[in-house]
Amino acid sequence: MSSDGSRLISALLKRANHHVKCVFFARREPHDHEEPDLSELVPLLEKSELVLVAVYSRYVIRAIELTNYIHKNYPKKLVIWGGPHCISVPELSLAYADGVCFSDGDEVVVDFVNRLESGKNYLETPNMGFSVNGSFKINETLPPFTDLDSLPYYDYDLKDHFLLDKKLIPMTKEILRDGHAVYPFNKPIFFTITSRGCPHNCSYCNNCRFVAMFGHNKIRSYSVSRVIKELKYTLDKFDFFRLVGIGDDDFFVRPTEEIEDFAKQYKEQIDLPFGIAISANTYRREKMEPLLGAGLKLIQMGVQSGSERVLIEVYNRKISLSRTRAAIKDIEAYMKKYGLMLLLDFIIDNPYETKEDIIQTYNFILDLPPKATFNIFYLAFFPGTPLYERAIKDGIIEEIEENSFRFYSSSGTTLRYQKNYETFLILLVKKLYTRFPTKIPRLLTFLRFLGSTPFRVAGSMIPSAFYAGLSKLISR
Ligand code: SF4
Repeated sequence: MSSDGSRLISALLKRANHHVKCVFFARREPHDHEEPDLSELVPLLEKSELVLVAVYSRYVIRAIELTNYIHKNYPKKLVIWGGPHCISVPELSLAYADGVCFSDGDEVVVDFVNRLESGKNYLETPNMGFSVNGSFKINETLPPFTDLDSLPYYDYDLKDHFLLDKKLIPMTKEILRDGHAVYPFNKPIFFTITSRGCPHNCSYCNNCRFVAMFGHNKIRSYSVSRVIKELKYTLDKFDFFRLVGIGDDDFFVRPTEEIEDFAKQYKEQIDLPFGIAISANTYRREKMEPLLGAGLKLIQMGVQSGSERVLIEVYNRKISLSRTRAAIKDIEAYMKKYGLMLLLDFIIDNPYETKEDIIQTYNFILDLPPKATFNIFYLAFFPGTPLYERAIKDGIIEEIEENSFRFYSSSGTTLRYQKNYETFLILLVKKLYTRFPTKIPRLLTFLRFLGSTPFRVAGSMIPSAFYAGLSKLISR
């Protein structure tokens, strides 16, 4: 429901006096996938001259269904894709879409629509590629867009916004409120982004694509005053938001003085609990403390693996475990005093891990502070990333197969690569932490016992199919 990219593109087009209608597709998980009734879109499609679709790799199958539906029923209408999937793999996207935006859309979307409207050659629009008579035309790439303060506010109008959830439903405040009440607080949370880019270059992440395009991933930020102005504007309009989620890849890339300024202005003008994502490399006490005073309630940080070998050789993450442990220990001291939640991310079911690597992740989790929470994600090979290329080369996945677009965060996801005792232990501990958080300290000795060599030897004698079934069951 937050869909910041689509809301920004819509706002840019509206500012240039184009008429835009936005449709948000209801979220579906693979195991409860139900075809949206695309015929519901007919009244909108009949009055539209152009369809822009925001595509994440995770949802590419739905983008293909929509695009095929439009091409079949309205062969003259152009369908243009943008978003992370197109940035990663423009050519794969052009197999379905008439055109793609494969880099920043800020400067080019209005240019493209103006050219189309005035009959000029839109096929030359920079940052875009087109499918022309069966071949692909990829245009020049502009340098990364830096003037973020010049952008309009995200389009949060209710008029001309719709939700497609079996039926096409006009957007209301209530739908917006309920759609924003998400994990981990399940209260309406307003998501925003105050910067673009990440200082890291993890091999499974879309950020690699910017490094491939530009040689580096330039960090670009909105000024603090601009961030506060937009937050104030939108939060005044919708009084139901209870939290703010800052979705920057690493909020602590900002210098300390800017963070102090943000904390001051945020406390004075917004004063809602908020969350950020950081990395152990950028963690600094002097950045934490002003934010805690301003209402910081959630810190999310990637760990990904308890094996230094996997972090370096497989994930290309130059964030050492000792540094991560030190940051976690430091943050632990603030948790009780400020009611701060620490949420750590781990990736499992990676075919490049040994059982030894997996048990190191298990032990890392057992060593976490009792109040820390953690997410378990299943490794997804996203097209356009170095790890995807490596998996294709090693015969682990095939290009454009369903595996490539694996649903990485769904409960009940099936193990593919690591159907073994060690992975089962990680899923078991996650289940226990979720169901019985207060009992964990008492269970620790038992859990460590389960990870000891005799249990692992005994566990290795049980067939992998057993662990696959059991893991699916407990991850629900
Ligand atoms: S730290 Fe996160 S956002 Fe940055 S490159 Fe790694 S996975 Fe991507």
